[in-house]
Amino acid sequence: MHIEEILYTQGFGTRRVCAGLVQQGFVTIDGAPVADPGADLATEGLHFTVQGTAWAYHEKAYLMLHKPAGTECSQKPSTYPSIYTLLPSPLRLRPNKGAVQGVQAIGRLDQDTTGLLLLTDDGQFIHRMGSPKHHVPKVYEVTTKHPVDPGQIDRLLAGVVLDDDPKPVRAAACEATGPLQLSLTLTEGKYHQVKRMLAAVGNRVEALHRSRIGQLALPDDLAPGQWRWLDADQVEGLR
Ligand code: URA
Repeated sequence: MHIEEILYTQGFGTRRVCAGLVQQGFVTIDGAPVADPGADLATEGLHFTVQGTAWAYHEKAYLMLHKPAGTECSQKPSTYPSIYTLLPSPLRLRPNKGAVQGVQAIGRLDQDTTGLLLLTDDGQFIHRMGSPKHHVPKVYEVTTKHPVDPGQIDRLLAGVVLDDDPKPVRAAACEATGPLQLSLTLTEGKYHQVKRMLAAVGNRVEALHRSRIGQLALPDDLAPGQWRWLDADQVEGLR
């Protein structure tokens, strides 16, 4: 496919804008500018850079974001900046031929929660990951207000009743990792679930960080606010 067409399919703008990006030397492969907008390239496994943003050619986009505190997982945030402002514009919602394209977060984290958030423009994938039948474990590192006692851990593992559902919810795993620290694994995602579970056992969440979803751990070298493409194995591992 011609490089200008590639840029167009990836959301970098109109064909004219895309040709301009190439002509101005803003598109590089292995550090060297692609000079000719008509350059014909194989798309499979193609990596390039557009004005400093590293890009992987994709038909569907799958990425992880290290969500910082003080951001909202909403396209229309009420108080804090939207997480979508952390992404380059080709990944954000935009009209395309009468449809809307762009990535969406798979589930939400509270504004003060940090850590691993997945985003994609694959609607079926979002649907599957959000289905109650899909029990991908999510690991949260919790800082508590009060020291964690073994009785609280037992109750979190046995199941606690939240105010909106008589059916108890339980942690799939829970261990103390410090006097005020817990590692808690959930296989469902109710609204404010960790905070409400801790409140139900008489404690309180002071800070919350999601460190893992299924086999995918938040990489140590992905700083808050940074995002990264998922590779095909990582996507398969989540299905
Ligand atoms: N549980 C919560 O209470 N908040 C989150 O952001 C995620 C899980």
